[in-house]
Amino acid sequence: MPSRPRKIRILGAGPAGLYAAYRLKRLLPSADIVVVEQNPPDVTFGFGVVLSAQGLQFLADDDPELVRAISTGLESWKDIEIRIGGERIRIDGIGFTAIGRVILLRILNEKLREVGLAPAFGKTITDLSDFGDADLIVGADGANSLVRSTHEAAFGAKIERLTNWFAWFGASRPFDALTQTFKMTDNGPFNAHHYRYSPTQSTFLVETTTANFERCGLAKLSVEESRAFCENLFADVLEGAELISNRSIWRQFPKITNARWSYKNMVLVGDALRTAHYSIGSGTRLALEDVQALVNAIASTEGDISAALSLYEAQRKPIVQKLLDAAARSADWYETFDQNMTLPPLEFAHEYISRSGRVDPDRMASASPNFVRRYLEWERARGISRS
Ligand SMILES: Cc1cc2nc3c(=O)[nH]c(=O)nc-3n(C[C@H](O)[C@H](O)[C@H](O)COP(=O)(O)OP(=O)(O)OC[C@H]3O[C@@H](n4cnc5c(N)ncnc54)[C@H](O)[C@@H]3O)c2cc1C
Repeated sequence: MPSRPRKIRILGAGPAGLYAAYRLKRLLPSADIVVVEQNPPDVTFGFGVVLSAQGLQFLADDDPELVRAISTGLESWKDIEIRIGGERIRIDGIGFTAIGRVILLRILNEKLREVGLAPAFGKTITDLSDFGDADLIVGADGANSLVRSTHEAAFGAKIERLTNWFAWFGASRPFDALTQTFKMTDNGPFNAHHYRYSPTQSTFLVETTTANFERCGLAKLSVEESRAFCENLFADVLEGAELISNRSIWRQFPKITNARWSYKNMVLVGDALRTAHYSIGSGTRLALEDVQALVNAIASTEGDISAALSLYEAQRKPIVQKLLDAAARSADWYETFDQNMTLPPLEFAHEYISRSGRVDPDRMASASPNFVRRYLEWERARGISRS
C-alpha cells in the first residue's frame, strides 16, 4: 500500500493555503508541513470580502469552531441598494455578510497555531525546486500562481482578462446595505460596489469600461491620484468619508481556468485553480471548499496521492461548475453595464438582480416581495402585463 505523504509544501498563506495547512496537519499529524508566504503577517491585498455565513455551512460538520469564529467577525445586512440616476432602489431579502480579509486570515492563522504550525512569512518562492523532494505541493498561491505558471501547459491553464478596469479601495465609513452605485459622467460610466465589513470600514471597489478608462487617462494616474480621483467622483456617496488605498492599482480581472487540476505531485486550489468574478462574492468560499474536497480525497485514498488528486478533481469539478457559470454571466453583465444604464431605474435594478441567472421570478418573488411588488406596479402603470 502506498504511504501517506510525509513531506508537504504549501505555497501561499491566503485563505486556501492556511486552511490547507490546518486541515492537512489534522489529517496527517506526523507529516512535515511547511507553508510559505511572501508577505509579512497581517499584510494582504484588498479590504473586506463578502462571505455568507450560510455559505460556510459546508464547513460546519468538520469545523464548527472555525465557522463560529468567522461568524462572530461578520458584518451583515438585509438589502441590496441600487443607486442610479438620483434614485435609490432597495432590493429586500438579498442579505449577505462580509468580513475583513485581515480578520479572516488572523482567524485561520490562529487555527493553524492550534495544530502547531505557522507560515514562513516574508519568503518569496521563485522556483519550485525550493520545495525539493516534497511528496505533495499545494499551489495555494493565488491568481498569479507560480505553481500553475511553471507548468502552464500540463495544467491546461487559460487566462483571459476581462475588458473592464477596477480598483479595490476601502472607505472610512460603513454603509447599511450592499450598495451598487452607477454614475454616468461626461467621459463615461462608473460603478462602485460598496459594503461594510466592520462597524467603521467598507470595501469600495470602483469599476469602469475600458473606453472610459482611456478617456479619463486613468492609466497615467499614480495610486494616490487614482484614489483622489475616485474619492472626488463618489464624494456624494462617501459623504465626507475618505477612500483608503492598499496597493489599489487599476486592474483587469483575470478569468482563470485549468483543464487539469493537478500535475505529478502538484495540485491547485483557490484562485490559483480558478477565479470567480468578485460580483458574486464567492472566491473565498470556493477556495475553502477546494481544500475541504482535497483533504477528504486524501483521507479516502489511503495515501495514494495520485488517486487522491484524481478523485479531488473528479468529485469537485462538476459541483463547482454551476457557480462558475453564474459568475461568468455576472461578469458578462458588468462588461456592458453602461448599455443598461439608459433603462428606467427600476428596470435597471431588475436587470441587475437577474443578471447571473440564479434568481428566477419565483425565487425573486419570495425573497424580495417589496421590490417585486414595486416593480410589478411600475410595469402595470406602464401598461406592461404579465400573463
Ligand atoms: C476585487 C476583488 C474582490 C473580491 N471580493 C470577494 C468577495 O467579496 N468575496 C469572496 O469570497 N471573494 C472575493 N474575492 C476573491 C478572493 O479574494 C479570492 O478568491 C481568495 O482570496 C482566494 O484565496 P487564495 O488563498 O486562493 O488566494 P489569495 O488570497 O490570493 O492568496 C494567495 C497567497 O499566496 C501568496 N503568494 C503568491 N505567490 C507567492 C510566492 N511565489 N511565494 C510566496 N507567497 C506567494 C500571496 O502573497 C497570497 O497571500 C475578490 C477578489 C478581488 C480581486
